[in-house]
Amino acid sequence: MTARRDELAANLDAVRRRIAAACEEAGRAADDVSLVVVTKFFPASDVRLLADLGVTDVGENRHQEAEAKAAECADLGLRWHFIGGLQSNKAAAVASYADVVESLDRAKLVGPLSRGAHARSHEVDVLLQVSLDPPGAEHRSGASPDDLADLAGRVAEAGMLRLRGLMAVAPLGEDPDAAFSRLAAIRDEFVRAHPDATVLSAGMSGDLEAAITRGATHVRVGSAVLGERPSVQ
Ligand SMILES: *Cc1c(COP(=O)(O)O)cnc(C)c1O
Repeated sequence: MTARRDELAANLDAVRRRIAAACEEAGRAADDVSLVVVTKFFPASDVRLLADLGVTDVGENRHQEAEAKAAECADLGLRWHFIGGLQSNKAAAVASYADVVESLDRAKLVGPLSRGAHARSHEVDVLLQVSLDPPGAEHRSGASPDDLADLAGRVAEAGMLRLRGLMAVAPLGEDPDAAFSRLAAIRDEFVRAHPDATVLSAGMSGDLEAAITRGATHVRVGSAVLGERPSVQ
């Protein structure tokens, strides 16, 4: 366990330095960018070590795994971010442990998320996931930029959900800087209509610098902290 703790500590340190360097390069304050450590596929014992090393926010992308880990680590006071594809029949359950749902990408999810938050009497922060795929590309997750205004309206009307901003993943195979530059334009327009929704969750182990250059306030980093995941997901 000591060896694993040392490994995580060294990796965290390296990631924090990358974030600080990217902030400096972009002329931004280092505390402008928050680190969400993505712990999917790694055990609750790692989450515990991370909390001990000062991590406050963790991300998970699969409901069952997230639910179990959040329960096992309930004493740690962490903020749990749900960052994966959401099924409408699981959305209420996700809202029962997630503090932030980053992957709201269609209207059908709003009702169940709101109900789950009500059942827990706990407001849930919501980010709208926007697709950065070129129009017409094989659709991965994320709402089309044209649908954000409608989705935002629905979140604002539903109780117990707080609209905080946007989340995106750079498309595979594209230069992340080009993708995040489109994201910055989408976000500028979005924030004009929703001045309080200033969170921008973008950037992972491989592209966090490009995301910070383009205005990310949250980076979601998995493998650079925890090591390689099994390749079959
Ligand atoms: C797994 C995952 C991450 C972390 O990816 P790494 O490349 O391991 O840093 C970030 N965001 C989402 C949505 C993910 O599913």
